[in-house]
Amino acid sequence: MSNKTKYIFVTGGVTSSLGKGIISASIAKLLQARGYTVTIQKLDPYINIDPGTLNPYEHGECFVTDDGAETDLDLGHYERFLNVPTSQANNITTGKIYQSVIEKERRGEFLGKTVQVIPHITNEIKECIQILGKERSYDIVITEIGGTVGDIESLPYIEAVRQMKWELNNDCIVVHLTLVPYLAAAGELKTKPTQHSVKHLLEMGVQPDILCCRTEYKLETKLREKIAKFCNVSIDAVIESKDADSIYDVPILMKNENLDSVILGKLNLKKDSNIDLKSWEIFLNDLKKPNHKVNIGIVGKYVELKDAYKSISESLIHSGVANKAQVNIKWIHSEKINQDNINEIFNDIHGILVAPGFGSRGVNGKINAVHYARENKIPFFGICLGMQCAVIEFARNVLNLKNANTTEISKNCDDPVIDLMEEQKEISKMGGTMRLGSYNCKLNSNLIASNAYKANLIQERHRHRYEFNNHYLELFESSGMIASGKNPETGLIEIVEIKNHPWFVGTQFHPEYKSTVAEPHPLFKSFINASLINKKVNSSK
Ligand code: GLN
Repeated sequence: MSNKTKYIFVTGGVTSSLGKGIISASIAKLLQARGYTVTIQKLDPYINIDPGTLNPYEHGECFVTDDGAETDLDLGHYERFLNVPTSQANNITTGKIYQSVIEKERRGEFLGKTVQVIPHITNEIKECIQILGKERSYDIVITEIGGTVGDIESLPYIEAVRQMKWELNNDCIVVHLTLVPYLAAAGELKTKPTQHSVKHLLEMGVQPDILCCRTEYKLETKLREKIAKFCNVSIDAVIESKDADSIYDVPILMKNENLDSVILGKLNLKKDSNIDLKSWEIFLNDLKKPNHKVNIGIVGKYVELKDAYKSISESLIHSGVANKAQVNIKWIHSEKINQDNINEIFNDIHGILVAPGFGSRGVNGKINAVHYARENKIPFFGICLGMQCAVIEFARNVLNLKNANTTEISKNCDDPVIDLMEEQKEISKMGGTMRLGSYNCKLNSNLIASNAYKANLIQERHRHRYEFNNHYLELFESSGMIASGKNPETGLIEIVEIKNHPWFVGTQFHPEYKSTVAEPHPLFKSFINASLINKKVNSSK
C-alpha cells in the first residue's frame, strides 16, 4: 500500500507484565484491518540463542513457527491475532545478535576493526529489524522490545531504536507502554511513574511518540493533559489502556481510543481507509454470549504456571467460540492424580486434554488420566507427550505389555513403544536440535481427524525427539488403536485414534500452534463438540 516500510517500536516502562505483546498484536490487528500488511517481531534481551532450552518456569511456553524456530510465547499472540504465520526472523535475542557478530568477526568481515556494541551490535540489531521490511516487503513492521526501559540488557536495543528514529525520521515511531497506578490511600491515579519512565527514555535519546497508559480506571482529560505536557506528546497520543476482560477486547478498546488513526497520522499514512473488524466483532460477541458451557480438564505438570500452556488454553477459547460454548478449564496437576482421587478429580469434566512435556515428572498421572478417559469414554485429546502417554497406556492395559514405556523415561524397558527417532540418536547438543516446525501428515479417510480437517493432507508443527515405534504398529492396529495420520515421507506416526470410543485422538504434532481467532483449529473444534455431546449424554442419563 505504501512504498516504504514503516517501523513501529513498542517499548515498556515502569514495570514488566504490562502486556506489550497484546498491545503490539492489537496495533497490528487494527492496521491489518485497514488494509496494511503488517508483521510483528519480538526482540528479547536475554543471552540464550532462543527460549528452546529454557524451563517453562523461566519463560512460559515455547512457541514454534512453521520454519522451526523455538520462540517467545508472544509470537503465538501475534499469529492468533493476525492469522499470518511468523518465522525465524520474528524473534531475535541478544544471544543471536552476538552469535552472528562474533561469527562475522571470526570470518574476518570487520577488516581488523575493533568490534564494539556501537556500531557493530546496534548495526546487527537494525539489520534484523529491517530485514522484515526489505525481504518480505511488509507495509509496517512492529518491533516489540522485551524487558523494561532502564534494564541494562536492553540498552543496545534502545540505542538501535534511537538511531533508526534519526535515520528514518517520519517512517518510524515509538509507542511506549507505561503504568498509571491507582493509589488507594490518595484516591488518585498517579502519573509520576510514567513521567519518570519517559525521562529515562529521553536520557537515552528516544522521544516516544505515543503513550499507552495501563490503568485500572478511566484517564480523565486533565490527567491526559498532564501526561502530554510532561512527556512532550500530543494529547491525542495519550492512550488509555484499561484492564480488559479478555485479551481479544484490546484491539476494540484501542480503536475506541483512536490509536490506529493516531499511528497512521504520525507515520504519514492514509487515514481515510475503512477499518474492517466485522469478523473480529462477531468472534467477541460469541465469546461474550455463549449458548453452552463445557468443562475441560488440562492435565499437565506446570498447571500453576498457566503461561506454560498458553497456546492450548487460547485454542480452547477459539474452538469454544466456534461451538458457541464457554470453555471452563480445570487445571489438573499430573503429579497429584492417583487411583484414590481420580473419580473425584474428573467428576465434572466433559473432555480431558493431556498436555505436552519432557521428562518423567508427572507422567504416571498423565497415563492414569488417559486410562480414565479411555475406559469411561470421555473425549480425550493427547498432544505430543500426551499422545505418547496414550500409546503407553494402551500398550500396558490393552495389549498387556506391562513394561511398555518411552525410552525417554526407561531406556532399556521391555517394550519401547515410544522410542528416540533415528536421526536423534547421534545428537548431543540441546539447542534447536529437536524435530521442529512444519511437516506433512497424510490422513486416513473417514476417521475423526480426517473428518475434522476435511482434508487428506495437512501440515502441522512439531517439537519432539521421540516417536511411535512402528515395530508395534500392527499389534496396536489389530487391537483398536489406529494410526490415522502419518508422515508420507518417513512413515512417522502423527496421529493415533481409538476405535469404539466417542473421541480419542493423540497427535505427535502441536495443533495448538496453529489455532487463530480467524481460524480455530479443526481438531480443537471437533474435541469441544465431542465434549459438549458427552455433557449432554451424561446429563440426560
Ligand atoms: N518429550 C517428548 C519428545 O521429545 C514429547 C515432547 C513434547 O511433548 N513436546 O518426544
